[in-house]
Amino acid sequence: MAVDNYDIITIGGGLGGAALAKVMADYGARVLVLESETRFRDRVRGEAMVSWGVCEAMELGIYENLKDAGGWDIEYLEAAFGNNAPVRRHLRTTTEPSAPRFNFFHPDVQEVLLQGALDAGATVKRGARVSGLGTQGSRSVLATVDGSEQEFTARLVVGADGRYSRTRGWGGFQTSENPDQTFCAGLLLDEMGAPDDTTHNFRIFHKSLNALLFPQRSGKVRAYLCYPTTWGEQLSAAKDIQRFIDWSVEAGTPAEFFADAVPAGPLASFNSASTWAEHPYCGGVALIGDAAGATDPMWGQGLSLTLRDVRVLRDQLISHDDWDEAGHAYAQEHDRYFTVCNTVQSWNEKVLVETGPEADARRAHVLPLWAEDPTRRLDTFASGPDHPIDEPIRRRFFGED
Ligand SMILES: Cc1cc2nc3c(=O)[nH]c(=O)nc-3n(C[C@H](O)[C@H](O)[C@H](O)COP(=O)(O)OP(=O)(O)OC[C@H]3O[C@@H](n4cnc5c(N)ncnc54)[C@H](O)[C@@H]3O)c2cc1C
Repeated sequence: MAVDNYDIITIGGGLGGAALAKVMADYGARVLVLESETRFRDRVRGEAMVSWGVCEAMELGIYENLKDAGGWDIEYLEAAFGNNAPVRRHLRTTTEPSAPRFNFFHPDVQEVLLQGALDAGATVKRGARVSGLGTQGSRSVLATVDGSEQEFTARLVVGADGRYSRTRGWGGFQTSENPDQTFCAGLLLDEMGAPDDTTHNFRIFHKSLNALLFPQRSGKVRAYLCYPTTWGEQLSAAKDIQRFIDWSVEAGTPAEFFADAVPAGPLASFNSASTWAEHPYCGGVALIGDAAGATDPMWGQGLSLTLRDVRVLRDQLISHDDWDEAGHAYAQEHDRYFTVCNTVQSWNEKVLVETGPEADARRAHVLPLWAEDPTRRLDTFASGPDHPIDEPIRRRFFGED
């Protein structure tokens, strides 16, 4: 079997794999992307990047690529929780990175970034399904390309194969998972009567329903709905679209937004429990993006975490001759910021997602304190995970100080 040699192989050409391939090829690395899809379709994935992720994209030099893919800035976030009056926030002037949010159509971004990787000199093989690590140990992979199995070797293999990553298993990584709590369903809609300059979030507490609207430049709107796994049913396909709309309206979305709406893609839903690998580097294999750690989509951190992974790994690789050291330094930093996101997420779930008398009492105590001083809640989801999460901060969050 012929063996091709590279500096880096990425297993997967999603946001993580394609972005890493582009930025490392820009530095002159020989990069191979192995991507199983020949054509990207709507997989109902993230299409709304929060402010701190926009800064990561700028830092990586891919923000213009994302704009070329049809992405656009969204200046406002409006959140209506329970019976409280909606709170409207201008993101550019109220977030630490002073940046708006950014919405796009995921398949177009994958396509444009892979083209960017090609233009920078990376080799991209589409329709190439990786089936495992190869005969040369962890620094090689086996893939079926054009119907035949081929082996490729590299200094570094990067598992960028998403939420259901198989590289995690092949590389011997231990996977941790939060308990099941929420399903996240998503649907792209055309002709929706929602304002196009604002991301909307509607939430009711007694049923733990959360609806989100992300307008796209094309005039379409990506709608998500988060609901408890205890309901037992995962919304999917045309048969469930009316239920998706009914539950979104129940969550607080004005019914008139849906009056003329037409589905423009598939309806699919996913179990949202966070899944992650501790220390996502081992023996020549690094994990990035959802493969390294996928948080609950409800909090919109996945795209930003993925770009943070790309930036941190890139910076370590270009500053170390020894890529084993670089991999461990990346993994150590990943553990820090992922833990901050996952911890702040679990704190928010206690206040905003849990149901029952104890959760109601917690909300009655905490929400007025947050309204009085919003810094108590922490701005991690918009401004990023670069802050401590010690006991005094936890107590302040829950109003126990
Ligand atoms: C319903 C839902 C809503 C979301 N909403 C948001 C949001 O609003 N904001 C946000 O920031 N994040 C959101 N996310 C998360 C976001 O989509 C992910 O964090 C992001 O897509 C991760 O990118 P990735 O490159 O790591 O993985 P992916 O985008 O999953 O890409 C993985 C790639 O690897 C390829 N691949 C997989 N296995 C193989 C193999 N064996 N061989 C070759 N190729 C392979 C796949 O074809 C794919 O192209 C959401 C996720 C879901 C499920």
